[in-house]
Amino acid sequence: MIVKKVSDLENTLETLKLERKKKIYFIPTMGSLHEGHLSLIKFAEKKKAFIILSIFVNPLQFDDKKDFKKYPRDLRKDLRIIKDLKINVVLLPEKSFAKNLSFPKIKIKKLDKKLCGIDRPGHFLGVATVVLKFLNLIRPNFIILGEKDFQQILVIKKIIKDFSLKTKVIGLPIVREESGLALSSRNKLIPEKKTKIAANIYTCLKQISEGIITNGLEIKKLESYKNKLLRIGIEKVNYLEILKETNLEVLDHKPSIARIFISVKFFGIKLIDNFRVPKRLVQKNGLILNLKD
Ligand code: AMP
Repeated sequence: MIVKKVSDLENTLETLKLERKKKIYFIPTMGSLHEGHLSLIKFAEKKKAFIILSIFVNPLQFDDKKDFKKYPRDLRKDLRIIKDLKINVVLLPEKSFAKNLSFPKIKIKKLDKKLCGIDRPGHFLGVATVVLKFLNLIRPNFIILGEKDFQQILVIKKIIKDFSLKTKVIGLPIVREESGLALSSRNKLIPEKKTKIAANIYTCLKQISEGIITNGLEIKKLESYKNKLLRIGIEKVNYLEILKETNLEVLDHKPSIARIFISVKFFGIKLIDNFRVPKRLVQKNGLILNLKD
């Protein structure tokens, strides 16, 4: 069932009361669906859940108007893709959903000062504002998110905690092309012949992880990884950082699980990715080391 007017959602949920004995799993997306999105839907299908999928290109989370305009949209194709999936409600809010809001945008303190928070000013304010509206409206038992947008998961967990909501967050692994390139709706904007170059982003993350595990890594050396990417045709590396997974803080003497986070510009498009280092790490004097077990 497709719902466009948010005010209709309550009635729709009421008419589907029987189905609603199931747990509600909510999957927010911006459409142009690909296998990454489908992995989230398939996860919910296996739970025999009541699934609500939203498709909404949220203007509030774009710091750049041009980027918002050129963001790939193909609603017809999306609806075709999900036709045979067990989605109970497809929520397609109208533009007004994120317009003229009377409440101030949600402020995210520490997490907003890291990675994409710096790189895309206002991005997470926009994400949090709209996700909070969705959560308030739907009151789902679970929200399913992809680890592709790892920082987004942390932001959403934080607003759920701050607003004492009951929704639990499920984060699912990144789905990649065979080459290793993380699937993203934006990949459609890369000329096909050049996607091989973009696959080096993942190779770079893996190499850094392997390097840390075998010999340790001087943080300074991240510059040489950045330069390598620039040499093969990546336009700009917005950031390449290794941070604690739980709070995106810099590694220190306390053994922690860390992720390597990257954002690049390629053909004018922002691509992000991250990789979990499969060992606990410490940082001493600018050197990141694997804590031998
Ligand atoms: P988006 O439509 O890009 O806003 O993404 C909607 C949801 O799908 C977010 O929770 C993303 O993290 C998730 N997602 C996007 N790409 C992938 C991927 N390659 N693997 C897993 N999840 C993804």
